Amino acid sequence: MRLQEIIPNLWIIDATSAHVQTRAALVMGEQRAVVWDSLTRPEDIAPLVELIGDKPYFLVYSHADWDHIWGSAGLPDGRLGVIGHSDCLRRFSDDVPRTLQRMQQADLGEWLSVRLVAPNITFPWRLSLDLGGVTLDLHHLPGHTADCIIGWIPEWGVLLGGDAIETPLPVVNNARLLGGWLAALESLQGLDRLTRAIPSHGSLAGRESLDGTVAYLRALAGDQQFNLPDKLDDFYRETHQKNLIVVDGGLVLHE
Ligand SMILES: [Zn+2]
Repeated sequence: MRLQEIIPNLWIIDATSAHVQTRAALVMGEQRAVVWDSLTRPEDIAPLVELIGDKPYFLVYSHADWDHIWGSAGLPDGRLGVIGHSDCLRRFSDDVPRTLQRMQQADLGEWLSVRLVAPNITFPWRLSLDLGGVTLDLHHLPGHTADCIIGWIPEWGVLLGGDAIETPLPVVNNARLLGGWLAALESLQGLDRLTRAIPSHGSLAGRESLDGTVAYLRALAGDQQFNLPDKLDDFYRETHQKNLIVVDGGLVLHE
């Protein structure tokens, strides 16, 4: 587990469980805060409790995949609300409890402390949160999954990308969403003020995760060559092969 303040009032926390390294973030405004995703287990997100203190906060889910939402019970009381895309809420009555049941059956000890906390505030396109001195603009960006959102902090030039951006490469589940996903990321690239893109998995360097994801998706869409990095671990090697099959076959993999 690693906790760091990467610019004033913006903290990130990285934790690994079940071989997956996931990143959450804490945006501290003058009046309110936002926790961006809750990692995979309550104990993984718990180091944020002290930083949040008594400040009222929103919990925002980038999407409903298990590695982003299972730690919510580790956050303090006094939450203003739990925010997600409308389709993120729908998944809490669908694949979210199914996945938890399956993984608890496989290894109960690892996931015993997990409690599902569904969104109670949803939006279809866009939602803006005034935190006091800093704003978090949430935008629906279907691509990796249909319920994905991104967060844009205009005052700081920071993009919270969730799994819409990822290095060395993103996971493509739905061929039909590829074009819209790519176009949305390209329009984010046009934001001059965007200096830092923070993915939930992968590189924290500048805009690398945004630019790298665009290059990869363009190649998948057939526009240009993409040279895979020499050192690619097994997970991403397999993911790349699956991505090719999904796109070439026009497949839609359900969660
Ligand atoms: Zn993820």
